[in-house]
Amino acid sequence: MSEQSFPPQQQEPPGITSAMDPLPDHGESSYVGHDRLAGRRALITGGDSGIGRAVAIAYAREGADVAFTYLPEEKEDADATQALVEEAGRKAVPIEADLRESATCDRVVAEATEALGGLDILVNNAGFQMARSEELADLTDENLDRTLKTNLYAMFWMSRAAARQFGPGSCIINNSSIQAFDPSTTLLDYASTKAAINNATINLAAQLGPKGIRVNAVAPGPIWTPLQPATQTEEKVQKFGQETPLGRAGQPAEVAPAFVFLASESDASYVSGTVLGVTGGKGVF
Ligand code: NAD
Ligand code: MG
Repeated sequence: MSEQSFPPQQQEPPGITSAMDPLPDHGESSYVGHDRLAGRRALITGGDSGIGRAVAIAYAREGADVAFTYLPEEKEDADATQALVEEAGRKAVPIEADLRESATCDRVVAEATEALGGLDILVNNAGFQMARSEELADLTDENLDRTLKTNLYAMFWMSRAAARQFGPGSCIINNSSIQAFDPSTTLLDYASTKAAINNATINLAAQLGPKGIRVNAVAPGPIWTPLQPATQTEEKVQKFGQETPLGRAGQPAEVAPAFVFLASESDASYVSGTVLGVTGGKGVF
């Protein structure tokens, strides 16, 4: 076993942080805020764990109040994220929600807006993938529904509902993936949603730009989160990230700063319609 290998481990989706070995780094002991998001109100889908938790910590330490969604199985992770946001002195609003229904997305935006007294930042971070067989015939309608509704429909539904609340200076940030550019055959349905998210990011930036709303995406490479042991084979998990030029998986803490930059009105005021790669060296074009 090389130094960069992960111990063999498997979980059922959606996966829980405490069952991971090693535990991911969400920036708990490292992220230092500089008031870049002072007084802003953010909603992060899937903010209980992984990249979403790292973004919640960073946003809170930058001065934002944070609402976030989680699934019922993820209550333990949601409690931990809530505590971390509150430790930063900010308001945390955990909202239990499965985003595969349009009406639920409307409810989540309404609850977040009410609890935070408005909304300025939407991070469409929730996502689902599952390693498939390489036989197209094995791809079921149920498989397709779960991936497309979670990753793509919810992105549209959440964005539509949030845009109704947004004023000038608000923004949407979508979580894309290296899979949009370099798709794995075992992630056929997932990779296609991520390419569609990139495309939609450009169109939404064009539609919402005249209202002063910026829309961008972050495309992470392999990042150590519960999604991986919950959806990839044990062999893939052990070698996770080794194929990147940097030779290792990234940590959620290494992705969060990209979400801070894109959310910041002072740093990214003229950045819209772009996809920012955080890939450990793989190209995003
Ligand atoms: P994660 O498991 O920590 O987060 C994903 C979250 O999605 C879960 O916590 C869950 O709350 C949410 N979710 C899943 N299905 C849902 C549903 N039906 N309704 C509501 N919420 C649902 O893993 P992560 O890796 O931090 O994933 C966050 C985002 O990052 C995803 O969009 C993923 O595609 C993207 N991403 C991850 C990687 C990686 O290597 N980890 C790479 C590229 C992109
Ligand atoms: Mg989770």
